[in-house]
Amino acid sequence: MLHRRIVALRRSPRFGDDAAVDLTITLLGPPGSGKGTQATRLRDDLGFAHLATGDLLRAARKEGSELGRRAAEYMDRGDLVPDELIVALMREAIAREDGPVLLDGFPRTTAQADALAGVLDDHDREMSAAVLIDVPDDVVVERISGRSQGRSDDNPETVRERLRVYHRETEPLVGYYDERGLLRRVDGRGDPDEVYAQVRRSASAEG
Ligand code: ADP
Repeated sequence: MLHRRIVALRRSPRFGDDAAVDLTITLLGPPGSGKGTQATRLRDDLGFAHLATGDLLRAARKEGSELGRRAAEYMDRGDLVPDELIVALMREAIAREDGPVLLDGFPRTTAQADALAGVLDDHDREMSAAVLIDVPDDVVVERISGRSQGRSDDNPETVRERLRVYHRETEPLVGYYDERGLLRRVDGRGDPDEVYAQVRRSASAEG
């Protein structure tokens, strides 16, 4: 498949001139911004491995693993799961991949972003772009109250708490990646096709 293995040609002292580096993209955005929908499209269209922390945590809960049990109480309150649990989970997941990787729901704190930079470095990767899917809070609340996927954290109080946590803990990453020249902003209010056109451009463009 044409896009099965996308490589970015970048000039960096670490990789040397024109070294081929697998793309590593992260999707940022509030709950309900459509990260999961857009990530699935990027996976199918461009061959990214899709690593979604929320999905991995829900799978761990279903299995009843130690991680799943520890994560459950935080998730049901709308709180973030402690950084060290998430970083350990993602360190393992990233280690298993050797093509383009799309991170969905990670990092969510600046501590996670710093830890991620170390993990990527260990695997001779670096962040290619952070794509922010921007959606205002009122649209988020409307969308999530309209979807019923049976998630235990989709009730109105938990959604409001997840939004508060997003603004406090995760939004600082917008500045974090902007300072590093990696931020790409997408208007997430349109329909999924319109949003995808912007996401695809941001995710495949060379830095
Ligand atoms: P949403 O983007 O709609 O909030 P997710 O499926 O990405 O949904 O996440 C669901 C929950 O999983 C979060 O509210 C949080 O409790 C936990 N979680 C997911 N990713 C992380 C992360 N990177 N750090 C800490 N907790 C996380």
